[in-house]
Amino acid sequence: MESYVERTKRSLGLYERAKRVLPAGVTYMIRHLEPYPFYVTRASGSRVYDVDQNEYIDYWMGHGALVLGHRHPAVMEAVRRQLDLGFHFGLCHEWEVRLAERVVRMVPSAQMVRFTNSGTEANMYAVRLARAYTKRVKIGKFEGGWHGGYDALHKGVKCPLEQPDSAGLAEGALRDTVVLPFNDLDGVTRAVKGLELACIIVEPVQGAGGFLPAEGAFLTGLRELCDETGALLVFDEVITGFRLAPGGAQELYGVLPDITVLGKALGGGELPIGAFCSSAEIMELVDHLKHPDKSEMSFHGGTYSGNPLVMRAGCAALKEYERGHVYRHIDELGERARRALEDIIEDTGADAHVTGVGSMLAIHFTKEKPKDVRSANKPKDVEATRRYRDYLVANGIAVMSYAFPHFFISLPHSGEDIDKLLSVTERFLRATGACSG
Ligand code: PLP
Repeated sequence: MESYVERTKRSLGLYERAKRVLPAGVTYMIRHLEPYPFYVTRASGSRVYDVDQNEYIDYWMGHGALVLGHRHPAVMEAVRRQLDLGFHFGLCHEWEVRLAERVVRMVPSAQMVRFTNSGTEANMYAVRLARAYTKRVKIGKFEGGWHGGYDALHKGVKCPLEQPDSAGLAEGALRDTVVLPFNDLDGVTRAVKGLELACIIVEPVQGAGGFLPAEGAFLTGLRELCDETGALLVFDEVITGFRLAPGGAQELYGVLPDITVLGKALGGGELPIGAFCSSAEIMELVDHLKHPDKSEMSFHGGTYSGNPLVMRAGCAALKEYERGHVYRHIDELGERARRALEDIIEDTGADAHVTGVGSMLAIHFTKEKPKDVRSANKPKDVEATRRYRDYLVANGIAVMSYAFPHFFISLPHSGEDIDKLLSVTERFLRATGACSG
């Protein structure tokens, strides 16, 4: 930490100013870093640079959105071209059509799509659509599932799960949300019996919950359960969409949801975006021409929804994702990093486990390998997590790890970047009490 403080004097100055005008000095609590965050001035490829001219290998990658890395040439070119033509019309334009066509082509379950400005918003509209379609009210979501700050889904996110995840949540909004056990199909089946759920929403790989993939037949089982009970299956692919495969987790696992929620990488990762998509039959409920009676239509809109700058950036990015080289590279690095980290953990005798899939990689300082948020988050592990995160940052590796250290591998990351992560991690595990032996 001494070296961090020595190297980040300008950041400290900004933080002192920030604390006076931004609660906790930040725009999002997970961006806070002890003793204070470093402030970024520029980014390129796999690197971010702070106001004190320090360089970091970036494994946070803009909340995981930057599958192509920072300032990918194709995305930059698209943005530059659109900047010259105008970047907020609030009117129809070609790029929303083109991006919608690409989404429909790439995401296996999508026949129609609507764009929003964030994943939170898209989840909110997806839940509304599911309720409108099924004419049911109750919804199911999973322990540890994070879908953004929408009241109805802001429940059972972090441990202790019984405690509200925020002050100010409306009891009425939460009353119809049932929290289900992740990776426990029998538990889910018991919990939903007789409930008449409008939908079950699931991240195929839990993100904030611990980079925990749905195990074995869990997703298939959910699909069958939804079919049996008349609930819609909603995949929140805000992280996994365009990260695990061109068609997201549904392509990778071969299970099709009724509604898919997208965000992050959909817009090229550099600009705010979200989307919800589904079959034409379900999406028709958003069509005000087919449903002139407002009580029969599921409303969606937004001043900046479908913004041309974002849509055009998204088109350029999806074109890259479709070429396939992206996934070969990031999956290979992810696989290599996971295997090497497991070896290092075994060698050092540390109480730690590696989770993740494809380009998503996480370390948990736990005795047992976690399979849900309950086994992923323990107070003791959070302390080891904090020390590890500080150590990485002090060694020029940028991560965010509010509850557990996690890494997003993106196109510009190289084998050497992974080697550095491995060697710094090994030094940390050998040097600290994170080792049991
Ligand atoms: N869904 C998932 C799986 C997420 O990880 C996130 C954000 O990290 C969201 C939804 C919310 O998206 P946004 O932050 O764009 O509102």
